[in-house]
Amino acid sequence: MEKISQSPRTTLKRLPQRGSYDRELINQILDEGFVCHVGFAVDGRPFVIPTGYARVGDSLIIHGSQASRMLRTLGQGIDVCVTVTLIDGLVLARSAFHHSMNYRSVVVFGRATPIEEPVAKVAALRALSEHMIPGRWDDVRALNERELQQTTVLSLALTEASAKVRTGPPLDDEEDYCLPVWAGVIPLSLVAQDPVDDPRLGPNGEAPKYAVEYARAGVKH
Ligand SMILES: Cc1cc2nc3c(=O)[nH]c(=O)nc-3n(C[C@H](O)[C@H](O)[C@H](O)COP(=O)(O)OP(=O)(O)OC[C@H]3O[C@@H](n4cnc5c(N)ncnc54)[C@H](O)[C@@H]3O)c2cc1C
Repeated sequence: MEKISQSPRTTLKRLPQRGSYDRELINQILDEGFVCHVGFAVDGRPFVIPTGYARVGDSLIIHGSQASRMLRTLGQGIDVCVTVTLIDGLVLARSAFHHSMNYRSVVVFGRATPIEEPVAKVAALRALSEHMIPGRWDDVRALNERELQQTTVLSLALTEASAKVRTGPPLDDEEDYCLPVWAGVIPLSLVAQDPVDDPRLGPNGEAPKYAVEYARAGVKH
């Protein structure tokens, strides 16, 4: 089991037994999610911006408009912190205090670098698309040169990262187990609904299999 080396920044303090530096677990969480929150400072002020991402090997890829402040700022190589959170359930305990959530999350620290070489840039954009909607890239019009130029792609190495996972039932105080209060877990998952046709769809338009059967890893229809 390959471990990512622990750093002072990635050392868990609260409930460290729920933490992990196992690369496979970190990769699994990153591969199931597709939205991250990117934290960075501009002029000493913090910003946290949600954005799409994909994991490619040992890196995270994010992309967006060349005009995006987030991408322009990160492209300069400043410190960044990226988080990904998957919610698996609400945990209802017998006391207000012990309510919790079942979750899997990852925190990554580092500095992003731009991917500028056109072949590598297109490959990264393809990976982003395939991570979110496998099979889509080959069906659609490819990016033209102008679109490629207008798009910034950044890569963040997964060298300083941690995972934290909570699973299972509530953990009540022993004396509370006799209370006449329902306790347990409300499982939650991200489930795709049936695709909705674009009103401007032509006569030959039928939703492809990857849209009809869309599911995130580990999540059934
Ligand atoms: C699920 C999801 C996926 C996204 N995927 C991408 C992506 O792949 N690429 C991409 O470029 N952008 C994506 N966005 C949009 C992204 O959050 C930013 O809005 C966008 O990158 C523009 O950033 P900016 O640097 O121009 O904004 P900034 O100039 O940094 O933003 C200025 C201010 O606008 C407000 N703001 C900006 N974005 C948001 C927001 N999302 N919600 C509320 N307030 C906001 C904040 O107050 C912020 O301080 C996504 C957003 C969501 C919610």
